Amino acid sequence: MTAHYQCGIGFSETGNRLNGQTMTIKELIDAGRSSRGWSRVGTHMRCQQLFAYTERLGIKLVSAEALTRGSIGHVGHAHLHAIWGARQGGVLVNTEMVDDPTRLLSPRDAMLAWCDLEGRGHDMLDQMRSVFDRYVERNPEPPGRVVAVEWPMAAVIGYKRGEWGLWVVHPDEESRLDEERQSVVACDDETIQIDPLNMPGHPDDGKPVYVTRRVDAVIEEGDRRVIWDHKFQGWVSGKVRAYSIDGGFGLFRHMGKQVFGEKFGGVRLNLIQTTDPYKLSRPKVPQSPHRDRHLAHLLWEEEHQIARKDLDQPNYWEWPKSMHEAGPCQGQYGTCAGLDLCLYGEAGQKYLNIERGSRDR
Ligand code: SF4
Repeated sequence: MTAHYQCGIGFSETGNRLNGQTMTIKELIDAGRSSRGWSRVGTHMRCQQLFAYTERLGIKLVSAEALTRGSIGHVGHAHLHAIWGARQGGVLVNTEMVDDPTRLLSPRDAMLAWCDLEGRGHDMLDQMRSVFDRYVERNPEPPGRVVAVEWPMAAVIGYKRGEWGLWVVHPDEESRLDEERQSVVACDDETIQIDPLNMPGHPDDGKPVYVTRRVDAVIEEGDRRVIWDHKFQGWVSGKVRAYSIDGGFGLFRHMGKQVFGEKFGGVRLNLIQTTDPYKLSRPKVPQSPHRDRHLAHLLWEEEHQIARKDLDQPNYWEWPKSMHEAGPCQGQYGTCAGLDLCLYGEAGQKYLNIERGSRDR
């Protein structure tokens, strides 16, 4: 949990005085994206040029409005599930055990606090609060024992007991995966011998190849632990087969099996419609056993291709583009936001409402 927020006028026990009113310091859960999530390699798999725009040139191509709406929704649901879990006896929030629900902001306050902290999203607050209110009205009870909320995980490529693969690391090790190292401690306290990036001349040569994920919630359903992923959609169709081939969900399955073993119960989507009429769907994401089996190889190959390209083509505007009128340029969600950049190069930026971020290396 990263931020403290003043609210709860009238509470005095842990509060301080401000303008004559008593304020309580409560906590805002960090529900942001993980530092090196699947979207990095996933975007590269989709289109190398798209990767270069977003990861190397720092051009933001996803609609800021859609991202903000989703973030506000996530913050509300993170607090809802964390409060449920704390009331049930304790819940892991980020990396900290919380058993006192009064430590946390209420979901509605958390949504406002997030907007204040980020300096955006206030114009979407009413809509997302009403989506949240309808959700709670129809689903007032927790769907099971809430075990964890906004739980970060990381996995690194290497050898464990002599077997090469992608292994979940111990939470204490996650912040040190950008360093050159020989070994790290696994989530089960065994040792992982790191198989590092092999790309002489590249700044990341010799460093661990790793990936991170942040789990929205882990919920005990019967005797199984299920990873839950909240999604806020303009229209909930209930069609979920395509989610099974998403690498991010593949990673959830891969990591969930290692951490929970026999108790792992798969991945469930919590699809929440943000427009009228109210609609909710909670399907399980179908399995993808063949693809999941070589997930580690896919990651390894992709990270080496990225590094190879960094060395071979330092002009990020000239990375390989899809050369087909369909495919990633014209996908399920419409035309790729990078199309004008591909048509006109740097001059195409004038057609975009581009926000510049920092380059990631
Ligand atoms: S328009 Fe096509 S080639 Fe250009 S970045 Fe998008 S997917 Fe890649």
